[in-house]
Amino acid sequence: MNKVIIFSAPSGSGKTTLVKHSLEVFNDLQFSISCTTRQPRGNEIHAVDYHFLSPDEFRQKISENAFVEFEEVYTDRYYGTLKSEVEKIWKQGKVVIFDVDVKGGISLKKYFGEKALSIFIEPPSIEELERRLILRNTDDAETIKIRVEKAEEELSYAKEFDRIVINTDLDEAKKEIESLIQNFIEETRS
Ligand code: 5GP
Repeated sequence: MNKVIIFSAPSGSGKTTLVKHSLEVFNDLQFSISCTTRQPRGNEIHAVDYHFLSPDEFRQKISENAFVEFEEVYTDRYYGTLKSEVEKIWKQGKVVIFDVDVKGGISLKKYFGEKALSIFIEPPSIEELERRLILRNTDDAETIKIRVEKAEEELSYAKEFDRIVINTDLDEAKKEIESLIQNFIEETRS
Protein backbone atom coordinates (compact mmCIF):
# COMPACT_ATOMS: atom_id res chain seq x y z
CA MET A 1 0.00 0.00 0.00
CA ASN A 2 1.20 3.55 -0.70
CA LYS A 3 2.02 5.19 2.61
CA VAL A 4 3.07 8.53 4.07
CA ILE A 5 4.66 9.70 7.32
CA ILE A 6 3.81 13.18 8.55
CA PHE A 7 6.04 15.15 10.93
CA SER A 8 4.59 18.28 12.50
CA ALA A 9 5.76 20.45 15.38
CA PRO A 10 6.11 24.02 16.47
CA SER A 11 9.21 25.44 14.79
CA GLY A 12 12.27 24.89 17.01
CA SER A 13 11.14 21.51 18.36
CA GLY A 14 13.88 19.63 16.50
CA LYS A 15 11.51 18.33 13.85
CA THR A 16 13.78 18.93 10.85
CA THR A 17 16.71 17.19 12.60
CA LEU A 18 14.48 14.19 13.30
CA VAL A 19 13.19 14.11 9.71
CA LYS A 20 16.78 14.16 8.37
CA HIS A 21 17.77 11.42 10.80
CA SER A 22 14.84 9.24 9.66
CA LEU A 23 15.87 9.69 6.03
CA GLU A 24 19.42 8.60 6.85
CA VAL A 25 18.29 5.49 8.71
CA PHE A 26 15.55 4.27 6.33
CA ASN A 27 16.23 3.85 2.60
CA ASP A 28 12.52 3.28 1.99
CA LEU A 29 11.66 6.90 2.81
CA GLN A 30 11.71 9.87 0.46
CA PHE A 31 11.28 13.51 1.50
CA SER A 32 8.41 15.43 -0.08
CA ILE A 33 9.82 18.75 -1.27
CA SER A 34 7.27 21.47 -0.51
CA CYS A 35 6.70 24.75 -2.34
CA THR A 36 7.20 28.02 -0.50
CA THR A 37 7.20 31.76 -1.23
CA ARG A 38 9.77 32.56 1.45
CA GLN A 39 13.39 33.35 0.57
CA PRO A 40 16.03 30.59 0.82
CA ARG A 41 17.88 30.59 4.17
CA GLY A 42 21.59 29.84 4.65
CA ASN A 43 22.66 27.06 2.29
CA GLU A 44 19.20 25.91 1.24
CA ILE A 45 19.00 24.74 -2.37
CA HIS A 46 16.13 25.14 -4.83
CA ALA A 47 14.38 21.82 -5.57
CA VAL A 48 16.26 20.12 -2.71
CA ASP A 49 14.99 21.85 0.44
CA TYR A 50 12.01 23.58 -1.18
CA HIS A 51 10.69 24.62 -4.55
CA PHE A 52 11.10 28.36 -4.02
CA LEU A 53 8.29 30.14 -5.91
CA SER A 54 7.14 33.71 -6.33
CA PRO A 55 3.69 34.51 -4.87
CA ASP A 56 2.31 34.62 -8.45
CA GLU A 57 3.73 31.21 -9.29
CA PHE A 58 2.31 29.86 -6.05
CA ARG A 59 -1.15 31.31 -6.74
CA GLN A 60 -1.04 29.83 -10.23
CA LYS A 61 -0.54 26.37 -8.73
CA ILE A 62 -3.43 26.97 -6.29
CA SER A 63 -5.68 27.76 -9.24
CA GLU A 64 -4.52 24.59 -11.02
CA ASN A 65 -5.51 22.59 -7.92
CA ALA A 66 -1.93 21.26 -7.80
CA PHE A 67 -1.69 21.06 -3.99
CA VAL A 68 -2.79 18.34 -1.59
CA GLU A 69 -2.78 21.12 1.02
CA PHE A 70 -1.32 24.58 1.37
CA GLU A 71 -1.16 27.08 4.22
CA GLU A 72 -0.29 30.70 4.66
CA VAL A 73 1.91 29.71 7.63
CA TYR A 74 2.98 33.29 8.28
CA THR A 75 1.57 36.43 6.63
CA ASP A 76 2.47 36.35 2.90
CA ARG A 77 4.45 33.19 3.44
CA TYR A 78 2.83 30.28 1.68
CA TYR A 79 3.84 26.65 2.02
CA GLY A 80 2.26 23.76 0.13
CA THR A 81 2.53 20.09 -0.72
CA LEU A 82 2.26 19.18 -4.39
CA LYS A 83 0.15 16.21 -5.48
CA SER A 84 2.75 15.49 -8.18
CA GLU A 85 5.47 15.20 -5.54
CA VAL A 86 3.58 12.48 -3.68
CA GLU A 87 2.80 10.56 -6.89
CA LYS A 88 6.45 10.71 -7.98
CA ILE A 89 7.64 9.21 -4.68
CA TRP A 90 5.01 6.46 -4.66
CA LYS A 91 6.01 5.53 -8.23
CA GLN A 92 9.51 4.89 -6.89
CA GLY A 93 7.96 2.43 -4.43
CA LYS A 94 8.90 4.60 -1.46
CA VAL A 95 7.14 5.96 1.61
CA VAL A 96 6.61 9.75 1.55
CA ILE A 97 7.88 11.78 4.50
CA PHE A 98 6.45 15.26 5.13
CA ASP A 99 7.84 18.08 7.27
CA VAL A 100 4.87 20.45 7.61
CA ASP A 101 3.29 22.86 10.07
CA VAL A 102 0.62 21.64 12.49
CA LYS A 103 -2.41 22.64 10.40
CA GLY A 104 -0.81 21.09 7.32
CA GLY A 105 -0.16 17.89 9.29
CA ILE A 106 -3.80 17.64 10.32
CA SER A 107 -4.96 18.25 6.72
CA LEU A 108 -2.57 15.62 5.37
CA LYS A 109 -3.74 13.04 7.94
CA LYS A 110 -7.37 13.71 6.96
CA TYR A 111 -6.48 13.40 3.27
CA PHE A 112 -4.41 10.19 3.51
CA GLY A 113 -6.29 8.50 6.40
CA GLU A 114 -5.07 4.95 7.05
CA LYS A 115 -2.19 5.43 4.63
CA ALA A 116 -0.67 7.96 7.04
CA LEU A 117 1.28 7.87 10.29
CA SER A 118 1.20 11.36 11.82
CA ILE A 119 3.84 12.25 14.42
CA PHE A 120 3.81 15.39 16.57
CA ILE A 121 7.19 16.48 17.94
CA GLU A 122 6.76 18.36 21.19
CA PRO A 123 9.41 20.57 22.82
CA PRO A 124 9.95 20.01 26.57
CA SER A 125 8.60 23.55 27.23
CA ILE A 126 7.91 26.89 25.53
CA GLU A 127 10.96 28.41 27.30
CA GLU A 128 13.21 25.68 25.90
CA LEU A 129 11.75 26.18 22.43
CA GLU A 130 12.52 29.91 22.58
CA ARG A 131 16.05 29.17 23.77
CA ARG A 132 16.60 26.78 20.82
CA LEU A 133 15.30 29.30 18.29
CA ILE A 134 17.71 31.92 19.65
CA LEU A 135 20.63 29.45 19.56
CA ARG A 136 19.78 28.41 15.98
CA ASN A 137 20.52 32.00 14.99
CA THR A 138 18.54 31.88 11.73
CA ASP A 139 15.72 34.27 12.66
CA ASP A 140 15.59 37.83 13.95
CA ALA A 141 14.02 38.69 17.32
CA GLU A 142 10.65 39.65 15.79
CA THR A 143 10.40 36.38 13.83
CA ILE A 144 11.29 34.40 16.97
CA LYS A 145 8.57 36.22 18.90
CA ILE A 146 6.00 35.33 16.22
CA ARG A 147 7.16 31.70 16.14
CA VAL A 148 6.94 31.37 19.94
CA GLU A 149 3.40 32.80 19.98
CA LYS A 150 2.38 30.45 17.20
CA ALA A 151 3.98 27.50 19.04
CA GLU A 152 1.77 28.08 22.08
CA GLU A 153 -1.32 27.67 19.92
CA GLU A 154 0.10 24.76 17.94
CA LEU A 155 0.80 22.71 21.08
CA SER A 156 -2.93 22.47 21.71
CA TYR A 157 -3.32 20.39 18.52
CA ALA A 158 -0.89 17.65 19.56
CA LYS A 159 -3.70 15.29 20.50
CA GLU A 160 -4.97 15.22 16.90
CA PHE A 161 -1.87 13.25 15.86
CA ASP A 162 -1.37 9.46 15.88
CA ARG A 163 1.76 9.74 18.04
CA ILE A 164 3.43 12.41 20.20
CA VAL A 165 7.20 12.33 20.74
CA ILE A 166 8.56 14.72 23.37
CA ASN A 167 12.00 15.88 22.29
CA THR A 168 13.80 16.37 25.61
CA ASP A 169 16.82 14.26 24.72
CA LEU A 170 17.56 14.15 20.99
CA ASP A 171 19.08 10.64 21.01
CA GLU A 172 16.08 9.22 22.82
CA ALA A 173 13.68 10.98 20.46
CA LYS A 174 15.61 9.53 17.50
CA LYS A 175 15.29 6.00 18.90
CA GLU A 176 11.59 6.43 19.59
CA ILE A 177 10.98 7.62 16.06
CA GLU A 178 13.05 4.84 14.53
CA SER A 179 10.85 2.27 16.22
CA LEU A 180 7.61 4.04 15.22
CA ILE A 181 8.73 4.14 11.59
CA GLN A 182 10.04 0.57 11.64
CA ASN A 183 6.65 -0.70 12.85
CA PHE A 184 4.78 1.39 10.33
CA ILE A 185 6.92 0.19 7.40
CA GLU A 186 6.52 -3.42 8.51
CA GLU A 187 2.75 -2.99 8.62
CA THR A 188 3.03 -1.68 5.06
CA ARG A 189 4.63 -4.91 3.91
CA SER A 190 2.11 -7.23 5.58
P1 5GP B 1 10.52 27.05 7.58
O1 5GP B 1 10.29 28.42 7.04
O2 5GP B 1 11.15 27.07 8.95
O3 5GP B 1 11.26 26.15 6.61
O4 5GP B 1 9.09 26.38 7.74
C1 5GP B 1 8.08 26.99 8.46
C2 5GP B 1 6.98 26.00 8.73
O5 5GP B 1 6.31 25.63 7.50
C3 5GP B 1 7.51 24.69 9.32
O6 5GP B 1 6.65 24.29 10.37
C4 5GP B 1 7.45 23.74 8.15
O7 5GP B 1 7.33 22.39 8.57
C5 5GP B 1 6.19 24.23 7.48
N1 5GP B 1 6.03 23.70 6.11
C6 5GP B 1 6.99 23.34 5.22
N2 5GP B 1 6.45 22.85 4.11
C7 5GP B 1 5.11 22.85 4.28
C8 5GP B 1 3.99 22.44 3.47
O8 5GP B 1 4.11 21.95 2.37
N3 5GP B 1 2.76 22.64 4.00
C9 5GP B 1 2.56 23.17 5.24
N4 5GP B 1 1.31 23.28 5.66
N5 5GP B 1 3.58 23.56 6.02
C10 5GP B 1 4.84 23.40 5.55
